[in-house]
Amino acid sequence: MRKTIIKAATIEGIGLHKGKAARVTFLPAAGPTGLRFLGPAFAEPLPARLDRVAGTARGTNISDGKHTIYTVEHLLSAAAGLGIDDLDIEIDGEEPPAADGSALAFATALLKAGIQEKPAQEKKTLSLAGRLEMAKGDIRYTAVPALGVSFKLTYDYPHPLVGKQVIEFVLTPDEYLVRVAPARTFGFSHEIEALKAAGLALGGSLDNAVVIGEKEIMAKGGLRFADEFARHKLLDLIGDLALTGLPLKDIRIEAERPGHAANVNFAKLLSEKAL
Ligand SMILES: [Zn+2]
Repeated sequence: MRKTIIKAATIEGIGLHKGKAARVTFLPAAGPTGLRFLGPAFAEPLPARLDRVAGTARGTNISDGKHTIYTVEHLLSAAAGLGIDDLDIEIDGEEPPAADGSALAFATALLKAGIQEKPAQEKKTLSLAGRLEMAKGDIRYTAVPALGVSFKLTYDYPHPLVGKQVIEFVLTPDEYLVRVAPARTFGFSHEIEALKAAGLALGGSLDNAVVIGEKEIMAKGGLRFADEFARHKLLDLIGDLALTGLPLKDIRIEAERPGHAANVNFAKLLSEKAL
């Protein structure tokens, strides 16, 4: 059954990359309209869909050609992870608040707003008839038909404090909330200056990101999971796959060294080959 929220919920704060204040209000969606952004800047709602993706540098941006919303993936991940099909996302600003760098604030707000089923509206899903594979260099994705929705994600980075992390995950709203939503954005201290020079991570701080230094990991309150980096990559993947506009059904996805650009390409491939 399609789901939306029951009442409005608002989150405020600065965005991770642009560093500007923004306010997001989640609103119930009456129709089967998917996840979409609304706001004073938009003449028409901007659907969070693959054909609107306008950038994938350290985050996923969508645009209607005139206005761009940056870093939509954590917010979309929370909605998809909780099984919400239809959501109007009113945004005052150009980037959702970074919050603590995870999807927890979005998920908590959505749960506080309450989730309702829409029995009269048909639910469409994305599933596969056969195996699907995509690879480029050492980045690899596979998807196969399966029972339920599950993931195996491998994050691998040649750094003594990181190495290889593998997360196996069966997607349900409860599991998403506990095991994926709290995993925070991370970056390496050696890349921060270059990111800022490129106009990225301008709002980034230890309040909303884990920073991996040469000799230590700087994380407020310590790491939340030993494999927090792999879990955050899974959070991102779930958010980027939400751009297909369809919830996954009976599918197992394995991803090695995923990133936003590859996630979006894989989402396009999934959409093309879906039943
Ligand atoms: Zn992320």
